[in-house]
Amino acid sequence: MGLKRVIGIFFDQYPNERLDLFQAFPALKQILQRRKLHASIRTIGDVVFTFIILSGLFGPQDPHENIVIFLSWGLWWPSMVLSWFFVGRMWCGFCPFPGLGRVLQRLGWVRYRPVPRWLQKYGIYWAVFLFAVIIWLEESMGIKESPRATALLILAILGGATFFSILYPLQAWCRYLCPMGRITGVASTMSMTEFRPDHSICKGCTSFACKRGRDGQRGCPVYLGAFGVTNNLDCLICGRCVSLCDKNSPRINFRSPFAELLISKGRYITCSYIIPLLLASQLARFMDAGILKAFEPADYSTVYRMAMFSGLLLFWFVMTVMFLKLGAKVFGTTEDELFGRFSPMVPVFVPTAFAGELVCRLNYALHEAQFFFPTLGRQFGLDLSSWEFHVPFWIYPLLDLFLVISSVAAGLHVLHRLVYGDFYGLVSPLRHRLCELLVYGMGATYIILLPFWYAPI
Ligand code: SF4
Ligand code: SF4
Ligand code: SF4
Repeated sequence: MGLKRVIGIFFDQYPNERLDLFQAFPALKQILQRRKLHASIRTIGDVVFTFIILSGLFGPQDPHENIVIFLSWGLWWPSMVLSWFFVGRMWCGFCPFPGLGRVLQRLGWVRYRPVPRWLQKYGIYWAVFLFAVIIWLEESMGIKESPRATALLILAILGGATFFSILYPLQAWCRYLCPMGRITGVASTMSMTEFRPDHSICKGCTSFACKRGRDGQRGCPVYLGAFGVTNNLDCLICGRCVSLCDKNSPRINFRSPFAELLISKGRYITCSYIIPLLLASQLARFMDAGILKAFEPADYSTVYRMAMFSGLLLFWFVMTVMFLKLGAKVFGTTEDELFGRFSPMVPVFVPTAFAGELVCRLNYALHEAQFFFPTLGRQFGLDLSSWEFHVPFWIYPLLDLFLVISSVAAGLHVLHRLVYGDFYGLVSPLRHRLCELLVYGMGATYIILLPFWYAPI
């Protein structure tokens, strides 16, 4: 496939076309297929996380003397957020959190029960709730400034993953409860890659080794199997099924980043909650940085901060939910005999939610990177103060404006494709224009609030 065609796919000129990346880059397939190689890469992550936990718990507690803060909030989180767009949920394939549970399962220290119905049915709501709690703790309790609190947060997620792998087979936590996995899955719906089987090959399969396992090897850790992957929400791209399938069916495709947004149409309940929550948390973070923190009394307490940020988060959550509902009303059609019930404005605002998260994470990473080497020096008794560098201030607004404006353009494109694609003739030009106004309105809200975000910089 020529470069022109690849660029065309990226810019959504050929929405149904896919480029098989296993064929284009066989090394990618080998990394997933050769489990020992995959495990060695995972081990690097395990070592870094062990260092973060130990150094966070027992190292210096001054954030200027402990690199754990930068490694966690300035490197890990932003890289993960950035990776959503390029490789979807592939982070999960290398994530260290399920590692301890896997070891316990191998040792047989487990009490396997079938995954209960309540977990399958309501797990995603808990995952969304846990994600809200993480954002809330991060902003209102200053976890980002405390090495020990950062380590405890990581330990809590590790504890959750381990506890559930003792109770239930494989990785029930990852499938139903993990807040990071949930947000990663939702954001990965606008990834430029997808993990999918070749359904024409799977049709004739009788072994379903991708799900059940084979020759003593465990099957899919999230009870899917490659043949069950139809979107980017749940598959961890761990690659286990690539080595299990002897028919060469699973593959990673390059695709238009809009492809899945247009197919899903906001039908999945997770997206309906995560997207307004993400938008709300970003707008609350912008205002918190520039208004609440600027006007807080000198002797404010943690309870005061928690109450103020909670109020702000709740306010924006209600506003964004109403905004999305208003958008759906203006769009005019939310149910279809072919697609069932859907939320048309969810896919339209996925790019904004993704861009907003990038703004928050990349700004922090850029700002804190300046002080990484001096902090490293202070932690290990070296004088690296001369290694401090300066990121010019203009880079932040330039980067942020690029991200927000691109996300508005992407949102308008999704809207256009919905109106002139699956819903052709059902949405009048006036309704289309009004929906466009809502997209511009959300973009303008971000741009108006961005200056507050720069207050601490
Ligand atoms: S779902 Fe959570 S714990 Fe599981 S692999 Fe992904 S980030 Fe890690
Ligand atoms: S991915 Fe492979 S093992 Fe799984 S159903 Fe398809 S052909 Fe069978
Ligand atoms: S379908 Fe299952 S085994 Fe295959 S990559 Fe996804 S999570 Fe891993």
